[in-house]
Amino acid sequence: MAMAMTTTEEGLKKGIAEFYDASSGTWEDIWGDHMHHGFYDPGATAPIHDHRAAQIRMIEEALRFAGVSDNPLKKPKKVVDVGCGIGGSSRYIAKKYGAYCQGITLSPIQVQRAQALSADEGLADKVDFQVADALNQPFPDGQFDLVWSMESGEHMPDKVKFVSELARVAAPGATIVIVTWCHRDLLPSEANLAPDETSLLNKICNAYYLPSWCSAADYVKIANSLSLEDIKTADWSDYVAPFWPAVIRSAFTWKGFTSLVRSGWKTIKGALVMPLMIQGYNKNLIKFTIITCRKPAQSLPDRG
Ligand code: SAH
Repeated sequence: MAMAMTTTEEGLKKGIAEFYDASSGTWEDIWGDHMHHGFYDPGATAPIHDHRAAQIRMIEEALRFAGVSDNPLKKPKKVVDVGCGIGGSSRYIAKKYGAYCQGITLSPIQVQRAQALSADEGLADKVDFQVADALNQPFPDGQFDLVWSMESGEHMPDKVKFVSELARVAAPGATIVIVTWCHRDLLPSEANLAPDETSLLNKICNAYYLPSWCSAADYVKIANSLSLEDIKTADWSDYVAPFWPAVIRSAFTWKGFTSLVRSGWKTIKGALVMPLMIQGYNKNLIKFTIITCRKPAQSLPDRG
């Protein structure tokens, strides 16, 4: 069984790398260097066109929710961006705090593009990117005072290993920020999601190279089991509601359409399931979730 598991995980990693190798250029053409949802004001009556501003707001709201300090003495100095895409968050955080930011992604094309964009912005000595697995990070223990994962957790086949690695590379007292797609929390009477819910998520998993989903409550349980502190979560689904309709509209522009067609079947398959994301949110099945916590300032006595 271990063999089968490894094969599946390797297959998933290969799929993720190929998906982002193929689709990142199209995304960047249309949406820019942030490959994540925007944070919008719910109930705003005016049409919301400035998606880049909404994506920056997502980063700012996540930092605020996590209580990351702007104070020169307390602000983050070393940051890891786990699942860094083409480095949008890394550059933003490096500039905001003057921090040194290291990003990892499975996609070699994303690493190249992240390095090039950073050099263009004069940030080559403030950020660094490499191909590496979030579940086996190429960093020693206790390195980073901010551990950042923006919309990569949903790709992780082993959530316990994922959070354990985030905690391992975190310095004592460091803040960990996970912004990710979850399914709704289960009711006390439920052991699983309903079959129609699972079937909707499976279609999304297939197109976006995702393993099975978990809930915010599952993340809290994992963080507790690792003795992480100040664990907080919030459901930001209402704040991101305008995002997928906007992505779909952009796919129907000439530029969006031609870019999609050029980037090939994997990207097109991703575009075709976009309405299912909206359905998932509307059914209260998909929850856009932030989880933040802190590694204890004093390392715990070794119980081994
Ligand atoms: N955080 C970025 C990109 C989000 S897209 C942004 O907000 O712009 C998801 C990213 O997660 C991709 O870069 C993908 O390569 C990365 N990813 C998925 N699984 C990963 C894994 N096991 N290890 C490292 N990166 C992973």
